Amino acid sequence: MASAIKDDSAIEKAKHLPALLSKKFNITDVKQDALKWNKEWEAAIASSTAADVLKEICHFLDDSFFTPSDIEFLHQDLRSVQDHVAEILRSLFNEGHFDTIWLLLNVTEQRRHILEGLKEASEARTLWGQDCRALCPEVTVSNFLAQGGKGFVDFLTRVLEITESSTKPAFLPNSWWEQASNLPNPWWGQASDVSPRKQISESTKLVFEVATIDRNKFIGHFVMFSAMSIVRDITNRSEGMKGVLHLMENTEGYVARSLAGVKTTLRDKPLIRCENCTKTPEDIGQGVRFMVCSVCKTKLKFEVHYCSQACQKQDWSLHKQACGKKPVSKGLRGTKGDSLWAFGDSNPAVELIRNLGKKEGRGLTSLRDIGVNPCKGKRSPAAERQAEMLEADRNVDYFLFTASGEAVRFVIDDPGAKMVFRINRGMVMTKTGDTGLDAMGEYMLKVMSGYPGLSRHIILKQLCEEHGADTAKKIVWLERKTRERGKTTFIEDWVKDSANVFGDWSWLGSL
Ligand SMILES: [Zn+2]
Ligand SMILES: [Zn+2]
Repeated sequence: MASAIKDDSAIEKAKHLPALLSKKFNITDVKQDALKWNKEWEAAIASSTAADVLKEICHFLDDSFFTPSDIEFLHQDLRSVQDHVAEILRSLFNEGHFDTIWLLLNVTEQRRHILEGLKEASEARTLWGQDCRALCPEVTVSNFLAQGGKGFVDFLTRVLEITESSTKPAFLPNSWWEQASNLPNPWWGQASDVSPRKQISESTKLVFEVATIDRNKFIGHFVMFSAMSIVRDITNRSEGMKGVLHLMENTEGYVARSLAGVKTTLRDKPLIRCENCTKTPEDIGQGVRFMVCSVCKTKLKFEVHYCSQACQKQDWSLHKQACGKKPVSKGLRGTKGDSLWAFGDSNPAVELIRNLGKKEGRGLTSLRDIGVNPCKGKRSPAAERQAEMLEADRNVDYFLFTASGEAVRFVIDDPGAKMVFRINRGMVMTKTGDTGLDAMGEYMLKVMSGYPGLSRHIILKQLCEEHGADTAKKIVWLERKTRERGKTTFIEDWVKDSANVFGDWSWLGSL
């Protein structure tokens, strides 16, 4: 017992370290307003170098503040926090479907958990308390919320990897922070005494080492407390978690996973691109400031962006036709003028829509434009005829045939169902996969079996002719599964469940 008290002396001593940085940057109390607190820290970090920060927090320290046994204790202490963190993360990732649940949460909920983690980490036992926040530039809410929350999953994955790679205390690499490792000594003394050789003394290294330990401890606490905040919500089925848990429990695992995947590719705001060279500010870098056409802005409240005067000049012969008269832009990919701006570039369904528009030399487009595309394999003659008819009449979702061979136009009104049906249809008709055929069949049987001249038997027979003899078996199997789960049809359930995550799909109808 006595030795434990002795070992703890580093932290005991540090209780008297004043919160210099919080004071310097005039940071709001975390208990009052965690969101504001975090914003102010992010701004403070962005305007400082790691050396500034380190100098500031070590104002009252000298070489003798930490003894070798203090350092030893701090190392062990960090590792025991990290062991705990690794254990929590492993069980979350392995058993808890954590990444899927997290990605499906809406952004307000995600932000709340992250702030909860930050708040508790700043109140947990470290040497510098909430000032540790300033040692962790990678811990930013916007990074974590990026790509529908994938930023946070990536961060946790990295923390777990680094923690598991050794049994020693783990240090998360960060180039901003590491720049403080080669400060000249003694940098807290008189600047004039510093030799131009920038010699690094033992004590400078020591203080950097201690601060690095504290930085990693803060990160460990943050990960632990934010993860626990999420687990708590799952256990209590909190209001914000209910919809996601419902979706997880009532759909096949891959449905939830694919929804979560789609969400990682959604943009939260349109991109800005130069109307002429199509580059984004990120493409150009160096903090370039884009200009907008002032005539369009004043007259039409419409923004057309340019990266430079040169680009504006080059584009003028085109732009002048609409300038100040009509709010027209080229609708470059991902920008406000692109009706699919919210979708990132790796979403197969959206690529399908875009490619179709491209193939026909016109911009997008609407759901009716999700066509059938050229076939990659060989279609049966019946499927070939279906494809030709669908290409010829874009308003139809599928052609069914009565016993006497008369074509019945099957048209879906619900935009969400139409989208899912057509995406599946695209895959089936291009032979990029036959998953989806069962869902299409199930849906058509439900809606069209009672139609004059059609029946269950007639529809199944047609689909087998088009897509192979085992088609009926697959459809019947899906029907049985759906019934067992007390559901309507795969497509209708998908639309309903996905609306919990994306909001309803009615906007698709206005494309
Ligand atoms: Zn440009
Ligand atoms: Zn203009």
